[in-house]
Amino acid sequence: MGPEPLEIKKENFLALFKNRKAMVKPLIMDQRFLAGVGNIYAQEALFCAGIHPERKANSIKKEKLEKLYECLISILRVAINKKGSSANTYRQLDGTQGSYIPLLKVYQREDEPCFKCKAPIRRKVMSSRGTYFCLRCQR
Ligand SMILES: [Zn+2]
Repeated sequence: MGPEPLEIKKENFLALFKNRKAMVKPLIMDQRFLAGVGNIYAQEALFCAGIHPERKANSIKKEKLEKLYECLISILRVAINKKGSSANTYRQLDGTQGSYIPLLKVYQREDEPCFKCKAPIRRKVMSSRGTYFCLRCQR
């Protein structure tokens, strides 16, 4: 298991990405790389940091990785505080919707306007998981 974002220092987080050629979204969801980042929070964090989900990890600028670190921490903290939104699931076990849902910025918003730039949110299947992102804001 990799470290959890809430338990790792920024410099150690940045070091994880060195020499990693994998696409960033499946990489941050890989439990051997980082623990506890599920499909939904991975895409929300990438939107928050302005990083395209298919960008190769080692090609991301340091400032953007620092932003990704901050975004992951704030998103996971809010999710945990909201209960029913563990790091991996956003729905409670009985199927009622998790209270994090109103805060989602890209997830399941295909063709709806981006909250930052108004461009339509795109959906793409990556590693068999639906992935939502803004082509204009995420590079
Ligand atoms: Zn946008």
